[in-house]
Amino acid sequence: ISQVLNNLLSNAIKFTPEQGEIELCFKLEEQQEERLKINVTVKDSGIGITPEQQVKIFDAFEQVDGSISRSYEGTGLGLSIAWNIVNLMGGEITIESEAGKGTVFSFNMMLGYCADGHARAEEVYACESYDFSGKTLLLAEDIDINQEIVKAILQEAHVNVVAAANGRETVQYFAENPEKYDLIFMDVHMPEMDGYEATRRIRELENPKAKTVPIIAMTANVFKEDVEKCLAAGMNDHIGKPLDFNMVLQKMRQYIIK
Ligand code: ADP
Repeated sequence: ISQVLNNLLSNAIKFTPEQGEIELCFKLEEQQEERLKINVTVKDSGIGITPEQQVKIFDAFEQVDGSISRSYEGTGLGLSIAWNIVNLMGGEITIESEAGKGTVFSFNMMLGYCADGHARAEEVYACESYDFSGKTLLLAEDIDINQEIVKAILQEAHVNVVAAANGRETVQYFAENPEKYDLIFMDVHMPEMDGYEATRRIRELENPKAKTVPIIAMTANVFKEDVEKCLAAGMNDHIGKPLDFNMVLQKMRQYIIK
């Protein structure tokens, strides 16, 4: 949530002149026994976004106007990451805007909560802190935006993430310093060397850590044969894509020995 808020608020500040106004508003939309639906809006009185521009605004690397954005700097990734995070958390993010008048971004999310401090077992994650300070994971992922998303969602877990762009790099980084890594998240389909081959090569390395480091596949292929292929290559486990953030944290808890 803080990652999404950071992006929306810093954009509001970036694209609103000094005398303008920015408003952040939280609303409880629905309260069920153990779930809350919240709605958050970030409203600014800034330069606004035209309807044509709004259509593309959540796409990766999209900036409304190269010249304006260049003077404000940025990558065009923030909103795409925010959109993905909100989606992964089962919500939606929407935009209302008028050029020259201002912009309202709003998103909603269903959250588990623990009013009496007794969370249900499967919702313990909502109350527990996931602090992996001092731990390092190696992320094998060839698509930049996916790397950014995983890094962004793991920021709160304080884990150090080293990203590799293909299987060859993953083997190389691990071989250079096996003791450094507590876990490897391995995309399966990557250029140069795929995740299966990279896993086999890591397991064949001399260093004892190469046999024990947990390797978890991250892939959209979730058929039984695919999972078996991952295990046969020497991986320990598997997470399906699109990623469920809570599942990622759960696997980290399971495999990273604190
Ligand atoms: P970045 O800010 O890093 O360029 P974002 O994905 O966060 O990337 O934003 C993409 C583009 O959307 C920005 O470059 C800007 O053109 C436009 N934009 C985002 N938020 C606002 C806003 N509150 N008001 C006007 N334009 C905005």
